[in-house]
Amino acid sequence: MERLNAFDIRELERLCPGGVKENVSLAAISRWQIGGTADVIVEPSSVAELCSLRAFIAQEGLPSVVIGDTSNLLFSDEGLRAVCIRLGSRMSSVHIENDIVHAQAGVWVPFLARKIMSAGLTGAEHTCGIPGTLGGLICMNGGSQRKGVGSSVVTVESVDTAGNICHRSVEQCEFSYRSSVYQNNSEVIASAKLSFLSGDKLKIRQEMLSILAERNRKFPRKLPNCGSVFKSNPAMYEKAGPPGAIIESLGFKGACCGGAQVSPHHANFIVNTGVARARDVLTLVSKISRCVLESVGHHIEPEFKFVSVHGEIMPVDEMLKGFFYE
Ligand SMILES: Cc1cc2nc3c(=O)[nH]c(=O)nc-3n(C[C@H](O)[C@H](O)[C@H](O)COP(=O)(O)OP(=O)(O)OC[C@H]3O[C@@H](n4cnc5c(N)ncnc54)[C@H](O)[C@@H]3O)c2cc1C
Repeated sequence: MERLNAFDIRELERLCPGGVKENVSLAAISRWQIGGTADVIVEPSSVAELCSLRAFIAQEGLPSVVIGDTSNLLFSDEGLRAVCIRLGSRMSSVHIENDIVHAQAGVWVPFLARKIMSAGLTGAEHTCGIPGTLGGLICMNGGSQRKGVGSSVVTVESVDTAGNICHRSVEQCEFSYRSSVYQNNSEVIASAKLSFLSGDKLKIRQEMLSILAERNRKFPRKLPNCGSVFKSNPAMYEKAGPPGAIIESLGFKGACCGGAQVSPHHANFIVNTGVARARDVLTLVSKISRCVLESVGHHIEPEFKFVSVHGEIMPVDEMLKGFFYE
């Protein structure tokens, strides 16, 4: 994309007042602290703004991408020449009526899990330590303790590329392990209706504290990372164990490429020790997946997504085709 002209920027500011930032360092705002400069990030504050924004982007033929808290994304070292739509605190309201939770996509998931616990509802405990927005969690069908948020979804409201509002039932969301229809349909999730069961507030709180304590013990906490790098694969698990144990057994724990390092704390995490580039992370991922394939005979699939300079969100496997490491 050519850099946006002054007319486009003025129009974005008119459509989303107070929500437009130009020339943003992706290394400064992303979880992995990696990436070049994004031309423009736009954060709508209502569904109406999101609809007008998408309609304008379609009308002008501009490339675009949607992000939440970036906790599952690796940005290109070249930056982002696309309109980056971010859903965050400006669209993060939550209303709870009996056992139904209405939440906007930008709400911070650990905060939402605490709100649900305070309302005496059980079923969201497994999400209490996942650093991301509800929109990102639904798109990834994220969760822990062998659960995914999809099991709590009733309906999802989204906005398509032309700026129309859509509603999908849980079946239409096509949830499966760490996947949903939103990974392929270009809709932006605006809000969701979730359902939970009544429970004992004290027990729910204790369960959340124990999940958080376990995560603090197991996961690297100091250096920037994007959570688990590789998905667990049931057949591979049965044969050789979880990804972290396999990667460790192949001697990768602590292995470095540039500023990226396989965490010495947990081998299924790659941390940024300070100056990592996207290329360093991809090199490590590529080396690990080739070695696992050769030694264990299973393909190990990365969980995070790569964001290209043109704003395409790509499965890392696709990105690695034709990628040769030094
Ligand atoms: C320390 C750490 C621990 C983690 N632990 C877990 C865990 O236990 N379980 C787990 O499942 N994940 C985990 N993750 C990964 C990540 O937190 C989740 O995938 C999270 O749900 C992503 O949310 P996000 O807002 O950061 O989305 P992003 O990373 O910004 O985006 C992820 C995907 O969602 C899409 N997306 C984001 N918002 C929207 C929207 N509003 N509409 C449509 N699409 C959207 C993006 O386009 C992208 O494809 C962890 C990450 C870290 C850093």
